[in-house]
Amino acid sequence: MAYEEITMLLGGWEGFELVNVLRQPATGDAVPVIELELRPVPNYAKRCSNCGEVVAVVHDASPRRVRDLPILEAETWVVFPRARLACPRCGPTVEMVPWLDRYQRLTTRLAAAIARLAQVLPIKHVAAWFGVGWATVKQIDSRALAARLGPVALDGVRVLALDEFALHRGQRYATVVADADTRRVLWVGEGRDRAAVRAFFALLGPARCARVEAVVMDMSAAFAAEVRAACPQAAVVYDRFHVQAGYHRDVVDRVRVDETNRVGRALPRDDPGRGARVAERRELRESRWLLLTNRAGLGAGDRVRLYELLGANWALFTVYVLKEDLARLWTYAYPGAARRCWADWYARAHESGLPALVRFADRLARHIDGVVNHCRYALNTGFLEGINNKIKVLKRMAYGYRDHEYFFLKIRAAFPGIPR
Ligand SMILES: [Zn+2]
Repeated sequence: MAYEEITMLLGGWEGFELVNVLRQPATGDAVPVIELELRPVPNYAKRCSNCGEVVAVVHDASPRRVRDLPILEAETWVVFPRARLACPRCGPTVEMVPWLDRYQRLTTRLAAAIARLAQVLPIKHVAAWFGVGWATVKQIDSRALAARLGPVALDGVRVLALDEFALHRGQRYATVVADADTRRVLWVGEGRDRAAVRAFFALLGPARCARVEAVVMDMSAAFAAEVRAACPQAAVVYDRFHVQAGYHRDVVDRVRVDETNRVGRALPRDDPGRGARVAERRELRESRWLLLTNRAGLGAGDRVRLYELLGANWALFTVYVLKEDLARLWTYAYPGAARRCWADWYARAHESGLPALVRFADRLARHIDGVVNHCRYALNTGFLEGINNKIKVLKRMAYGYRDHEYFFLKIRAAFPGIPR
């Protein structure tokens, strides 16, 4: 009784019944293997795998051996005869086996389990867990993603967010387009220039392009001109994440290097001030993360180090204070207040006389409308940063693959969006 119940639980091989079980115990590192032998249920109508119609004429059958879900950790195989039919409509075909995956030598339920696990684990781990090949996992995951995501629905898009990211080791780039309202990734394509995003706007079409109210992007983006050409009515918005990253790179890093050079070369061995200068230079060299880490994230000891560094260096102090005040630009709900904050910030940047800071302020001044536009389109400022970080994680998980189509599907799957 219990035996039959277990067999029933394991079943699901429609059209076939279990006739024999072969067991091979675990040896060394190898897991145990179970082989289940099936035979066709007598008088079960066989259908053509091509047209689905019942076919009476069975030509012959050839033995097939496919993987199924593991039974109590044992690698499990199913062996069965697959009939070859003479279909009156299609000619010679094979019988339809509903529980058999279409392209792989495994069952649909195993393929489904692989696809589920591949949503959260790197391919390598899924392949090791189920004892199947890397390429098999990738193909199953890719197919499942394409079926689930389908062609993307583009109606009702109001605010677009565009960003670029590096492929592989940074020699090539791709562009990601998202719906900022629903936080759904709409499109991913190779390249990061005008021509690259043209494909997306062609897909969106003129009617939907005309309804786009705003586009969020990095102020240094090369595709800005194409955005203006496709959606001339849309307001351009520069997000906090990219402007701050630019400030870190072009101002904080630059001033820190300038200051290290200003301190000068090491003094001669017999100079009494030598020890202090070596220490000062080292402190400046190692201060990068102290300056760039959010102050709230620093421990008590590092906070003391930061304050000592800033107290001893006027240029770094100035750059640091303006770094924190720059972020305030994105906190205003009223354009007038944001512009007053900007005027004050710009004046202080110029008063500093620090060339890197002055250059940055002048550049941002040319783009300030795009910063102030943030007041009108109150977006989640962490959205583009979140996409950027997630892509980095996916890239690490996907180490080794060159298949962009699959990588882009993974990005879309990671941002399915929230209901509008
Ligand atoms: Zn047929």
